[in-house]
Amino acid sequence: MVSEANSGASQTLVADAATPIELPAEVDALVVGFGPVGAAIANLLGRYGASALVVDKAAEIFMAPRAIALDNEGLRALQLAGLEEGDFDRVAIPYVRMSSPYLGEFGRVNTLGEIDGHPKLVTFYQPKLEAALRARLSRFPAIRVALGVTLTGVVEGAEGVAATLDVGGGAAATVSARYLIGADGAGSLVRQLIGRQFEGRTYPQDWLVVDARGAARPIDHVEFVCDHRRPVPHMPAPDGQERWEFMLRPGESRAQMESDEAVAKLLAPWGRAADMAIERKAVYRFHARVAKAFSKGRIFLAGDAAHVTPPFVGQGLVAGLRDAANLSWKIAWTLSGRASPRILASYDEERRPHAKAMIDLARLMGKLIMPRSAPIALLTHSLLRLLRLAPPLRRYFDDLGIKPKNVFPKGLFVAGRSRAKLVRGGPFPQGWVRLPDGRVVLSDDALGPTLALVGFGHDPGAALAAATLAAFLACGGKVVQVVHRGQALHLRREGWCEDIGGVFMPGAAPFGWAAVVRPDRTVLHDGPAAEAERLVRESLALLGAPVRAEAPYGAVPAFSV
Ligand SMILES: Cc1cc2nc3c(=O)[nH]c(=O)nc-3n(C[C@H](O)[C@H](O)[C@H](O)COP(=O)(O)OP(=O)(O)OC[C@H]3O[C@@H](n4cnc5c(N)ncnc54)[C@H](O)[C@@H]3O)c2cc1C
Repeated sequence: MVSEANSGASQTLVADAATPIELPAEVDALVVGFGPVGAAIANLLGRYGASALVVDKAAEIFMAPRAIALDNEGLRALQLAGLEEGDFDRVAIPYVRMSSPYLGEFGRVNTLGEIDGHPKLVTFYQPKLEAALRARLSRFPAIRVALGVTLTGVVEGAEGVAATLDVGGGAAATVSARYLIGADGAGSLVRQLIGRQFEGRTYPQDWLVVDARGAARPIDHVEFVCDHRRPVPHMPAPDGQERWEFMLRPGESRAQMESDEAVAKLLAPWGRAADMAIERKAVYRFHARVAKAFSKGRIFLAGDAAHVTPPFVGQGLVAGLRDAANLSWKIAWTLSGRASPRILASYDEERRPHAKAMIDLARLMGKLIMPRSAPIALLTHSLLRLLRLAPPLRRYFDDLGIKPKNVFPKGLFVAGRSRAKLVRGGPFPQGWVRLPDGRVVLSDDALGPTLALVGFGHDPGAALAAATLAAFLACGGKVVQVVHRGQALHLRREGWCEDIGGVFMPGAAPFGWAAVVRPDRTVLHDGPAAEAERLVRESLALLGAPVRAEAPYGAVPAFSV
């Protein structure tokens, strides 16, 4: 029997083995996979006003232990997707410590504090995050979800793609879509169908992942016990839980290691297993692989379908969330005619090199965590300890300088460097701002799901010709003036916010500067606010958005948070 599920989306259908599900014959976007990345994409498409169908072969959220760590960039992408602070539990981590049985602590990363309004590192439970993303979808009637529906084939034509789906009850259906996004996980059928094989390697080691609560000696940070005989990453998680990951030794089998006796023995340094509640235990094998390309024509890969990484720097899902933020607005803008379809090529160009760089970092971390022998362990760990004696190197490691910056060498931004600290093709900063109605919010929420022209201390809209402003608004743009704290008092019109934390001025840009910011909060262009006309025209040209009609200035949309 086909049933309506409480998955959150306004229209969610669940197929079962006996009864086929009815699907629309045509949709704008078809998202294959309702894991965290597919669910984030669905929310983003909904926020940008696009319509989509999301299908997943599973009827329920996958409950096994998977992602546990998210960084500030992952949290910011979730904020863009519409998640709020209390939507899912998280534990902020103050530091990450690496220790060796021979040297004690040899490495430490400082994760205390915030970047762009979010903690640098938190732990969480993936099924709870997925539930929160599904619940948030209820705001978007144009996003439909069909569960228990499996993609079996795709054919691409000039105007769109035709997807064949197993809809239950032994029936198949064909759905035409203008774009298809394969967020169908590591074993992605979409990736295979478009011939974008994975390149890279598989780690020969298996890992036992154990989630438990009630340890006698709980920790408040992340620790990597880098013992070559049995490396163990260990971290606290929400709700009093903790996670351990134990590397299996040659000859140890999955069944043997998942047994109660083996788990009790492994947990012994942290407490008696009899006193702990073991929530989950499962053996995993990790991979370090990236698809040859993240797209082909009208078909795109996102999340684990595009790249898989060992979890040593907690970046698998985070990379998928970066994909979601980068791709969703481009698809929505193209679907609505606000931008040319040629912007879609920048998705692969921007995302693939960064995903690869993160995987390289995870592989480097893997070498530190699991040295192959005692001499190699001593050598590498002593070297790292020595390097940390030099203050600049120490800062480089401790303050995450080693983490690849999310700045695109090539992509959808106006090339060049300016005298502001803003980097075109890099992230636009986020800080706390006060709105005209007195509310204090994070600036991404103030900007909303739009393209934005942001002026620092100056109204950048004043420099725009009426036709340019009209074209910018038609392209989903918004004009915002960021003013110094208290300086808004003499401003009467809407469209400004006060820089409460001083993140923007002088942090990011000098007084009188302006930036054009993409909906995924990447800097598209910047320059003097007096030259806003040129900045906007060049940005619109890059997006392929026409400068259409004359319109009087003043139609600046108010904040809607
Ligand atoms: C032990 C472990 C620890 C991890 N730790 C971290 C961490 O700390 N931090 C981090 O960022 N990441 C971590 N990860 C990685 C993270 O869990 C994944 O990157 C994330 O789940 C990927 O999400 P996804 O939506 O791309 O894919 P998935 O979650 O795999 O979702 C894919 C969905 O597609 C559906 N599907 C597949 N094929 C079809 C089809 N043909 N038709 C319809 N539906 C289909 C599936 O049913 C599934 O629901 C970890 C992973 C593991 C295994």
